[in-house]
Amino acid sequence: MPRLRGCCDFHARAGMIIACAPDFSDLGAHECRIPPDGRGLSENFDVTSRLASFRREPRRLLHGDFEGMNLDSANELAPVLFSDSYTAARQKFLTATAGAKAYRCSTPGPSGEALYTDAAWYGPRDARKLLILISGTHGPEGYCGSASQLLFLRAGFHEKLPPSTAVLFVHALNCYGFAWDRRVTAEGCDLNRNFIDFSKPVPPNPGYEELHDYIVCEDISEEGLQRAEAALDAYKTKRGERQFQIALTSGQYTRPGGAHFGGSGPTEARRTLERIVADHGVASREEVVIVDYHTGLGRFGYGELQCEQQSGLDGYERAKRIFGLSVTSPEIGNSSAVELYGTQAEYWERILGDRHTYVALEYGTLGVVKGPKTGFTRKDLWLFRYRPQDADTELGRGIRKLSKAYFYPQHPDWQEMILCRSHQVHRQALEAFQ
Ligand SMILES: [Zn+2]
Repeated sequence: MPRLRGCCDFHARAGMIIACAPDFSDLGAHECRIPPDGRGLSENFDVTSRLASFRREPRRLLHGDFEGMNLDSANELAPVLFSDSYTAARQKFLTATAGAKAYRCSTPGPSGEALYTDAAWYGPRDARKLLILISGTHGPEGYCGSASQLLFLRAGFHEKLPPSTAVLFVHALNCYGFAWDRRVTAEGCDLNRNFIDFSKPVPPNPGYEELHDYIVCEDISEEGLQRAEAALDAYKTKRGERQFQIALTSGQYTRPGGAHFGGSGPTEARRTLERIVADHGVASREEVVIVDYHTGLGRFGYGELQCEQQSGLDGYERAKRIFGLSVTSPEIGNSSAVELYGTQAEYWERILGDRHTYVALEYGTLGVVKGPKTGFTRKDLWLFRYRPQDADTELGRGIRKLSKAYFYPQHPDWQEMILCRSHQVHRQALEAFQ
């Protein structure tokens, strides 16, 4: 009895041999096991003729085998949903939504253009349950978030919401950073470290104090960068990789212009989110799920659903009930992120308590924390600290291009992975509201 090695009976019965070995390069290594009762598969199933027909019309045959399904949708939609600039992304969002409300940012874009965060609401105004989708918390990470929001609309989810459920889109929350390809806000703050309660003492970060001069160094010549990198390596050797990550990324409130600076008060982007929340009565809803799209941490293209420690283990359990076992938490140590200060989770916990479930949907890109990330971060911080007048010269545009490439790999396979995972997360969130 012939058998397809690597293919289960289901594949064989469904005639999915073609999908298992789309280029047929190793088809010779397969054997095919025909079910004893021959269900769904002719005894005369002829791999050779299938192969010949695939070579004539590969796409038609692939799609034909998945009758009623098109698993290539994400690949086909990627060029339509992803954009190459903040302006293009905003235009697509405004075209796809009706009656979005614009919140203007006081800082213009590189060409002097006005920048906006936009909010769109679908569903009953008095909905008890609410899904909030937020893009651009970290500027150029909005390329991914904006495309994911457009995907939600393209799937028509907003037109078939569960009972008493609404969805609120927040597009380009940190629109300044999106337009300038900077992770930080116009004030130079990491928005996702800015949600602390500033009426209380700010969290200390002595580790960052040790690193700051090697992160924002005035000399970014080859030799200067090598010296700074050596100092960071020495810290890692002494304290370990995890302590280095905590010192660098958990947030600091003492060094304006430094990495992951959480600010000395609420930023304009934070106040914009607070206005959107007030304008849409979010605080009075009974059940709120927030998906905040991010990029830059983790494995290429993989979307990790991270809870933050401010929601506690209860928040983690709520997220697991909605999104399943792929949810992670720095508190239990299975997340690629460490414990962070002042994230959005802190804000949602403050206004909603256990009525909220917040997840950062974090997609990996090409880089890792060491090397490329600190390299371009250092140049970005140097540019806006020492040469802000050059932000839109050839020098500045070159540095900004590095940031954009890090947070937004413009590769079709990456984009396809983002859309597949985002669709799954959107569906899971709505299923939880049924
Ligand atoms: Zn981020």
